[in-house]
Amino acid sequence: MNRDREGNKKIRIGIMGGTFDPIHYGHLVAAEAARVEFCLEKVVFMPVGRPPHKQQQNITEPEHRYHMTVLATSSNSGFEVSRLEIDKEGLTHTFDTIIDLKRIYGEGTDIYFITGADAVLELPTWHRVKELMALCKFIAVARPGFDDLHLEQKMAEISSKYNADIICIEIPLLAISSTDIRNRIKNGRPIKYLLPEAVEMYIKEKGLYREW
Ligand code: NAP
Repeated sequence: MNRDREGNKKIRIGIMGGTFDPIHYGHLVAAEAARVEFCLEKVVFMPVGRPPHKQQQNITEPEHRYHMTVLATSSNSGFEVSRLEIDKEGLTHTFDTIIDLKRIYGEGTDIYFITGADAVLELPTWHRVKELMALCKFIAVARPGFDDLHLEQKMAEISSKYNADIICIEIPLLAISSTDIRNRIKNGRPIKYLLPEAVEMYIKEKGLYREW
């Protein structure tokens, strides 16, 4: 059990932030690895709502991304899915999300924000970054073949500039990518075994990504 200096129980929660367009096994393996490695009580998947950095990009309706995330995570009692960001009006910033989560789980809760290493490298451009980094720790999930030295240097720079807590984990299965899955569907190529079958069925049923 994690305890603070006064011996009180300290809750550790992982927040798996991502577009999940669509969610795949790489995301699930990464979330489970983080849950176990960092003794997290649970991992809450947080599909992004209207991300400020993707205003010009084509992204699938939040409701579809939310449903796919629920289908993918339902068999793991250590996973939950939150509607917090997708139900928000206007643009969603991680800073606001973490403030809301601290209100929900308690100020003393340790929050580990888990997301892709490429996204973490862009942290200096995020909204209210200094305050954000004081509020939570970051787990950067790297794909195999990611330029390790570049990643380490950049993370070290960001950590020292903002006094941030950033931990990097490499997940071999993250060779799977949402972009590749979308391209496969568009080009009529198979996606079987890249993502849970229930998500594959949902994509087929709703005709997602055919016209991407
Ligand atoms: P992205 O640019 O779509 O993804 C960057 C890379 O990270 C991709 O390779 C992606 O692979 C991977 N990735 C994304 N989420 C991941 C996860 N949870 N675990 C492992 N790999 C992951 O990133 P995004 O999804 O838009 O943003 C990631 C998170 O950062 C979101 O929660 C977003 O709200 C937050 N963010 C906040 C701000 C801000 O507050 N201003 C700005 C930027 C991002 P796949 O494509 O295969 O997922």
